[in-house]
Amino acid sequence: MFESLSDRLSGVFDRLTKQGALSEDDVKTALREVRIALLEADVSLPVARDLIKAVQEKASGQSVTKSVTPGQQVVKIVHDELVHVLQGDGDPGALKIDNPPAPILMVGLQGSGKTTTTAKLAKRLKDREGKKVLMASLDVNRPAAMEQLQILGAQIGVDTLPIVKGEDPVQIAKRAKTAAAMGGYDVYILDTAGRLHIDAELIAQAAAVRDVAQPRETLLVVDGLTGQDAVNVATEFDDKIGVTGVVLTRMDGDGRGGAALSMRAVTGKPIRFVGLGEKLDAIEEFHAERVAGRILGMGDIVSLVEKAQQTIEADQAERMMKRFQKGRFNMNDMRMQLDQMLKMGGMEGMMGMMPGMKKAAKQVEESGMDDSVLKRQIALINSMTKTERANPQLLQASRKKRIAAGSGLEVRELNQLIKMHRQMADMMKKMGKGGMLKQAMKGMF
Ligand code: GDP
Repeated sequence: MFESLSDRLSGVFDRLTKQGALSEDDVKTALREVRIALLEADVSLPVARDLIKAVQEKASGQSVTKSVTPGQQVVKIVHDELVHVLQGDGDPGALKIDNPPAPILMVGLQGSGKTTTTAKLAKRLKDREGKKVLMASLDVNRPAAMEQLQILGAQIGVDTLPIVKGEDPVQIAKRAKTAAAMGGYDVYILDTAGRLHIDAELIAQAAAVRDVAQPRETLLVVDGLTGQDAVNVATEFDDKIGVTGVVLTRMDGDGRGGAALSMRAVTGKPIRFVGLGEKLDAIEEFHAERVAGRILGMGDIVSLVEKAQQTIEADQAERMMKRFQKGRFNMNDMRMQLDQMLKMGGMEGMMGMMPGMKKAAKQVEESGMDDSVLKRQIALINSMTKTERANPQLLQASRKKRIAAGSGLEVRELNQLIKMHRQMADMMKKMGKGGMLKQAMKGMF
């Protein structure tokens, strides 16, 4: 899986991480090579482009962290972006198969590996989760397909719905539902018929089955070797039938892997499993972190940078706390706090976490302040001189006007910022005396 992409990328990053200092051009050249490698692996163009753009932005905004090289930092950023591309906003978690008997609908083109995947999944649910599983083939056009599922079932020790000649797929689905309920099954998996291409009849049949079965999960099986086509097939199936997850098969081959990388970003659907061979246990849950690690092959560097970042954040927190306890809280500190707030889900999220700040959080909510306010406040602080940031009380009316104008904002907003700074400084001082600050800061970093 991903071998050629992985080889290409490790070549690029080996060169990058060996350099002590990096110019913007070095990073650009490296990212250009990453982009080409992604495209050659058949990652869709917009996905590759967005990924590179995100990396570029993050790399240029990143301050240099001691104890790791800039190249190592770039590797970490690429890793994080890969994870993001692979899983979108989050891990989809386990299959939703509570409330027995839970129906799972398997859809996909003929030859994608649907029947094999049905059996692999059934085996997995039985072996790993102790589920009682029933499988049913709805492929009335191909008796051989029905028999194939029966044979696989016997091999893995999972029941299949007895074959009754002359039934249509909807009737089989209904019978499976009854049999699953009567037989005390936890899960029943419906293996629908496939076609070589998506056509109206295939879709109509799958939709009719979906309507009677009301599946908890509709898993689309696609052949990972088909690259961009796999992504197109997924988009179409999702539009017409609605899928909850994707299984990419044949990821054991020397496929270029691009389908895996584009799938989530293009379709918005999570990859749930990957098929890694013909054997019935050759299936793996899809974990974005693990796959990104495999693609980059640089797990050591990623954890090194993570550790360095954690140490630095802890150092920073410690230093800040000492300053606050002494009643020192200037605009630089304020800016750091605002940055942190943005990272932690905005004003409300963070203030709610700090003892004694619940009331302030409520005020924030009522005043309609949101993240754009935080960003504007950061812009105002950025427009101040170093001396002003250290001693905001020095700000005269004329300078206030200049600062507000410099960040395209009103003096009123600057005054609000100054007031908020003063209140926070007071609060920090009070909290510092009571030892509450230490606790509050612990929650923040
Ligand atoms: P269906 O028509 O979609 O039901 O496809 P099948 O399940 O019959 O699979 C077609 C062929 O692909 C069979 O020979 C399977 O053994 C093979 N196959 C399925 N999944 C994988 C996989 O993950 N890796 C490999 N190498 N072969 C697979």
